[in-house]
Amino acid sequence: MQLVTFERHNEAQGDRSLERERSGASALGFDSLEPVNLGTRRLGVLIQIDPEDDAVVDLNRALAVKLAGNDAGAPEAEADSLLPPDMQTFLRHLPASLEAAHTAHAFALEALSRYDGPDVRRAGAVVPRRSVRLCAPLPRPGKIIGVARNYALHASEQGQRKPPQEPVLFLKATSAVIGPEDEIQIPEATHDVDYEGELAAVIGATAREVPAAEALTHVAGYCIANDVSARDFQNVRGQRFIGKSCDTFAPLGPALVTRDEIQDPQDLAIRTTVSGEVLQSGRTKEMLFPVAEIVAFASRLMTLEPGDVLLTGTPAGVGQARKPPRWLRDGDVVEVEIEKLGRLRNYVRERR
Ligand code: MG
Repeated sequence: MQLVTFERHNEAQGDRSLERERSGASALGFDSLEPVNLGTRRLGVLIQIDPEDDAVVDLNRALAVKLAGNDAGAPEAEADSLLPPDMQTFLRHLPASLEAAHTAHAFALEALSRYDGPDVRRAGAVVPRRSVRLCAPLPRPGKIIGVARNYALHASEQGQRKPPQEPVLFLKATSAVIGPEDEIQIPEATHDVDYEGELAAVIGATAREVPAAEALTHVAGYCIANDVSARDFQNVRGQRFIGKSCDTFAPLGPALVTRDEIQDPQDLAIRTTVSGEVLQSGRTKEMLFPVAEIVAFASRLMTLEPGDVLLTGTPAGVGQARKPPRWLRDGDVVEVEIEKLGRLRNYVRERR
């Protein structure tokens, strides 16, 4: 399942028309549902109804509509407990929440396909794609753990003679997270800002001292990340934390693709382009420490919790290693693509 976090624009349809036509909705069972507040982040799934009609299923809302149709006493409260509307809480309620998400998704699709089905658009359970803004699937992870130099060619382009003997972990501030429709903003204090296209693994079950063989069962799914890095701070000034943690330096998205859709996270093509030029191209099988080993290693030292994100390292081809270096500049567009996970695209803005 490809889960997204989205916000409704002011012009979002659905809820206001529900208000307007409230009286006519009573026969459909969802007349008593309160409208969804605009501007709140919601959990959804992107769907295409026909080639001209992209939409988003608001999963929590769809479940509430289904429950209302079953004459449930308090459909919204029940939907909130079965299928929390925000990703962080959703992950804490796995696997039951994912099962409820599949139920809600199927309900919405079936309702759309039937002329006599409940009007899920009017109920605000299906909203036009153009009326929402996609956020990072996980707008505020618990923690973001990065792995340094996890691809051999990248390790050597970074001047490392010997590959690391164990995963080298670092922390990146969660306040740096932005979504697929946001800009990477370069602060005035830094100049040498670099891209790092990466596979991100999202923890879905508490992991403490788990063996590598079981580690992937603690992963909820995967998304694309760009581990944007201010090299002047990270390297020249020895300030890795702040060099990795400037506001907007952790684009995530576009969707969290659940683990069942990714048979092998070590068999995915990964590619980064900057303003159309392919600068990184590799496969996740080139990782020195695969996702399972990173989870196992980290979990021997600290508890990994649902909603934590692991950035698994970047292939060779970063801007710093190029001659001359290819730093991100105002107006650039950075696109990271990973097979089965889609494409994460962000524009770059210099704050000068
Ligand atoms: Mg990195």
